[in-house]
Amino acid sequence: VHEVEEQLGTEIVAIDQETRDKLSKDYYWYSPVLNRQLQGLPAADVVILPRNEEEVVKALAFGFRHGIPVTVRGAGTGNYGQAVPLQRGIVLDLSRMDAILEIGPGFARLECGVRLGVIDKKAREVGQEIRIYPSTYVKATVGGFVSGGSGGIGSITYGNLWDGNVLEAVIYTMEETPRRLVVKGPELFTYIHNYGTTGILTEVTIPLSPRTEWTQAIGQFPTFEQAMQFGEALAREEAIPKRLIAPMEWPIPSYFVPFNKVIVPDRAAVMLEFAEETLRLVDALAVQYGGHIGHVIEAKNYRKTIGVSDFTWNHTTLWAMKTDASMTYLQAGFKVDCYLEQVQQIKAKYGDEVYLHVEWVRSGGEVTPTALPVVRFTTEERLYEIIDFFESIGVRIFDPHTWVLDQGGRGEVGSMGRKKRENDPKGLLNPGKINTD
Ligand code: FAD
Repeated sequence: VHEVEEQLGTEIVAIDQETRDKLSKDYYWYSPVLNRQLQGLPAADVVILPRNEEEVVKALAFGFRHGIPVTVRGAGTGNYGQAVPLQRGIVLDLSRMDAILEIGPGFARLECGVRLGVIDKKAREVGQEIRIYPSTYVKATVGGFVSGGSGGIGSITYGNLWDGNVLEAVIYTMEETPRRLVVKGPELFTYIHNYGTTGILTEVTIPLSPRTEWTQAIGQFPTFEQAMQFGEALAREEAIPKRLIAPMEWPIPSYFVPFNKVIVPDRAAVMLEFAEETLRLVDALAVQYGGHIGHVIEAKNYRKTIGVSDFTWNHTTLWAMKTDASMTYLQAGFKVDCYLEQVQQIKAKYGDEVYLHVEWVRSGGEVTPTALPVVRFTTEERLYEIIDFFESIGVRIFDPHTWVLDQGGRGEVGSMGRKKRENDPKGLLNPGKINTD
């Protein structure tokens, strides 16, 4: 510890227990399984907070020389324990590297620690905006999103991280002399959703789209099936620019306490964000599917109050957990050609044990119902029984109750293993998060 302070300077090194504890955790407690496994784990030995690339290089070289594990951290909002240093060592907190380097036509070049909310605000000031972002955008960093997230608001139009939403990245390797790589194109897949295991991103270039004035609204429907079908029709309606289509089964909308006065009970809700001039079209479509558009937040009040999008993606689970601490969630991919049958089979078998929350997205160009169902947790055996049932009826599961990349089921894990051996020969980057055999 003294050597690290000596070599890197006390300004960027933190060794006090409180900082180490705080920066050795993320939001894994959304999963009772991860909570049992990770709670009480000892913190990292030291936190290093570099301010620039040179300091990142020094920290990595120091770790390599001494064989010390390095776990990178953005804002630590990940849900899978990705940012937890399982083998202690160094937590490399990159939140101080938060400069917006360039905003040009259709792109933003950023240091990895910039918060997505800050980027979007700046981009909107010059008539542009970010294309996709997680519901944690106020806190989450761009480096953490690319390395540990998947998609979010905007994914209904632009897809997820693998659909051209990262243009270029500057990567550092974990070697005696860390190499600086500038990566673009398909090679980026070995770094997207890598949990910082194949390299450290210090700079990221993302695409921007023209600024749109967004209206947020809540559609309500007698049944969840109608809400889903309306969602699909809207997803396929090219005349309506949109960012969010999130059908929720009742009683999930009852968990959205700030909206209690505006949500009609016993009805499914669809959380929506679309271009302001299309409100009438959206409303007409809702009527066609037996529903109506209820609460509306006009574009002029966008992000001035709590928004509809603050109840979507994994924020839905958060609101459920606030009401009932026994709730947890799954991540699932329904089949677009038979989702109604799949929904019916799940409801017939699990009733009030599983409530459905879907996010319509465009993945690899195809309109797809992805889902974050809310599950009443009893035991781990029961949770995995539910997972097995989902899979047995053709619903794909991306298990959120594991920190091992190969088991969570996202990303290009095969090619990541090879890249890791090349970039991190001693296996020091976030050990325990990927199997390289
Ligand atoms: P961190 O949690 O700090 O890091 C994530 C992973 O990336 C870790 O493994 C870390 O080691 C690694 N990492 C961080 N920075 C770097 C870097 N510069 N180089 C290499 N590796 C790095 N995710 C979504 O995708 N979509 C959502 O809609 C969404 N909603 C959420 C809602 C809630 C309520 C919560 C709690 C989480 C949600 N998440 C979602 C998960 C998470 O918030 C996002 O993925 C977020 O973008 C992570 O950013 P971060 O800066 O907090 O990353």
